[in-house]
Amino acid sequence: MSRPTTRSKNKKPRLDNNADRSSEILRKIHALGEITGDDVNQLYNIWKPVCLGCRVNSKDNPNCFCGLIPSTTGSRKSGLWQKMSEIVHAMGPDPSQDLRDSLDFPAGLTNLGATCYANSILQCLYMNTSFRRGVFSIESDLMKQQPVLNQLAWLFAQLHGSKRSFVESAPFIKTLELDNGVQQDSHEFLTLLLSLLERCLSHSRNPAARTIVQDLFRGSVSHVTTCSKCGKDSEASSKIEDFYELELNVMGLKSLGESLDDYLNVEELNGENQYFCDSCSERVDATRSIKLRSLPAVLNIQLKRCVFLPKTTTKKKITSAFSFPRELDMTERLSDPAQGDLVYDLSAVLIHKGTAVNSGHYIAHIKDEKTGQWWEFDDESVSKLGCHPFGEGSSKTMSRDSQTEPSAQTSNGDTKSSNAKKQSSETAVSNTDETFSSTDAYMLMYNLRHSKINRLEKPINGNSADEDDFASISNGNSIPPYLSEEISNSNATLTEACQQYKLRKEKESDHITERRQEVRSVLSEAPVQSCDEPYFWISMNWLREWADNITPSVLDNTTVQCLHGKLPMSKVSSAKRLSAEAWLKLFTKYNGGPALGNQDYCKDCLIDAARKLVSGESYRDRRKLMKEIAESVLSGNCSDGTYYVSKAWLQQWVKRKVLDAPSEADVGPTVPICCPHGQLMPEQASGAKRLLVPENLWLFFYEDAVKVKSDDMVDCPTFTMDSEQCSQCSNELSEVACMEDSLRLSGL
Ligand SMILES: [Zn+2]
Ligand SMILES: [Zn+2]
Ligand SMILES: [Zn+2]
Ligand SMILES: [Zn+2]
Repeated sequence: MSRPTTRSKNKKPRLDNNADRSSEILRKIHALGEITGDDVNQLYNIWKPVCLGCRVNSKDNPNCFCGLIPSTTGSRKSGLWQKMSEIVHAMGPDPSQDLRDSLDFPAGLTNLGATCYANSILQCLYMNTSFRRGVFSIESDLMKQQPVLNQLAWLFAQLHGSKRSFVESAPFIKTLELDNGVQQDSHEFLTLLLSLLERCLSHSRNPAARTIVQDLFRGSVSHVTTCSKCGKDSEASSKIEDFYELELNVMGLKSLGESLDDYLNVEELNGENQYFCDSCSERVDATRSIKLRSLPAVLNIQLKRCVFLPKTTTKKKITSAFSFPRELDMTERLSDPAQGDLVYDLSAVLIHKGTAVNSGHYIAHIKDEKTGQWWEFDDESVSKLGCHPFGEGSSKTMSRDSQTEPSAQTSNGDTKSSNAKKQSSETAVSNTDETFSSTDAYMLMYNLRHSKINRLEKPINGNSADEDDFASISNGNSIPPYLSEEISNSNATLTEACQQYKLRKEKESDHITERRQEVRSVLSEAPVQSCDEPYFWISMNWLREWADNITPSVLDNTTVQCLHGKLPMSKVSSAKRLSAEAWLKLFTKYNGGPALGNQDYCKDCLIDAARKLVSGESYRDRRKLMKEIAESVLSGNCSDGTYYVSKAWLQQWVKRKVLDAPSEADVGPTVPICCPHGQLMPEQASGAKRLLVPENLWLFFYEDAVKVKSDDMVDCPTFTMDSEQCSQCSNELSEVACMEDSLRLSGL
């Protein structure tokens, strides 16, 4: 046999013994009207030994304090014993989590719906120190007139000086009045942004700010058509067109060199496409090409990864690998190479993740100009990439940018000679030791190595009206004073919030620790070690709440009191027995009450309980006797019956369990045999079967009925063996019988 069965088998008789002993004492109390200390010890289970550990808190033992708190390593889902980390979590977010590691660690930008390509571009602009300096040199009164500039400067100031690890880009984006619901083309966005800024900045009186967009990003091209006969260029060829970015094809092209070749490709105009030369005054063969006239300090290269498919009128993303060099020499690409060395360094790679054109995610890898360190900007989060734009072949880069694998290829003679096609592009990007390959890059930024815009880096010495504003902006990157103050305030607020949180957290965890110690300490001295010591009763409900809640309520023993203000025997299972020391600690700390000590068992309730027990026992005994008589009536072995009762009712009565007192069901032994006129129902009526019971049984039924429904005698009409059946009911029944008979006859 399995152990639990054996145990429960052994346990039951012991409990019964205890119950028997208690009944014995109650009978004695009923008989003598006296209660001794030993009686109370037995009846209130005080005698039970201190529980040394049970699975659930035992209600039968007032000396059991098990299960009130979890084990030393355990925890609960809520309250005082919840995991400390969860309690701290419930305090709300820790503002210090928003703190930047240091101001050398760039801040991220929050993503407002479909603006993450905007975030990428804003980070590129911010990370360009010349542009940043330009923005910081905008005079404050112009800011007031130009919300776009105001918000941009504020955004940059935050990226520069805020202690927050990410900054809201939304206020700036809002001033641009873009439609957030639509993913715009990032190329459209850059064009729109630069022309808007150029327009706004043109109002600046500060030269450092006024032309910063043109100075940094503007280059020029011309579309040149040359007559093959006279060698002269067309008139339109001298027209210079500005550009802020070069848009290059990537479809079918493998590298930046190939794309530049494609862009500057010389087109032959002959046959149908012949050109009319003004000088020759006739249609002649000619060539047409784009000529790079001048290149900007920051060369933005858009890669046309997104192509329009005329057949399906949809856009498609080209996901083929495309390589580009760390170092880009554009000297030979210029129409007039005499402008000097034009060597560019890769400064940013903008990446579109995802295959769909109109959705996906934009991130940017940008180089810090000062340190050469590359950073990945992914909206709010910024991570270090090292000195490689795609990370140092780290596993992180491999897994996160599975499509953008770093491929620092060292070009050597072998690859050049074996791939003749590539040769022109390979040589064009001369001095290229390192190239990178990406399937997702859609924009590249290259910075001119020896930028000519040095004037921006010189301190401003002039009669500027806002001299103070610029005073701090020399070659450093200081925020202008009017923004600096706001940044300081915002940082102070954040610092304050962090300190407040820290204090609150410390206070909370100190409180929790203190409370836990208190609960453990009080519970450790809670058990009363002997029956002679003074003790106090405590409501188990309150004790449980006190042990489980971070902030317990006032001590409340009223739920275990009887109407005499004492602890009745019936409430012992809802109370525990505390040592005087433990009680004093709780009572002085939590007040409330009332105190229920050794002498506060309820005598009145005990005597009442004793009386009920005895009367219950005597009722049970009597009823057992009556049951035997009833059974003999039902089996037809009773000849001295004098009172009628319903047969069906009697059958039910015999089946019912014998309790200490009659129940509701014991009412109405004659109800089913009583007709609507209050007479004895004719026996042929349905459900009116009756039996004669002896007088002592009838009187027992009658007493029970009166006990249960003392004020309603009508419920128990009495019919003796001499009672007549109701004549009216008899007539009605025989009429019905006659009708049925005649119906049966006519039916035949
Ligand atoms: Zn226990
Ligand atoms: Zn010509
Ligand atoms: Zn009482
Ligand atoms: Zn009747």
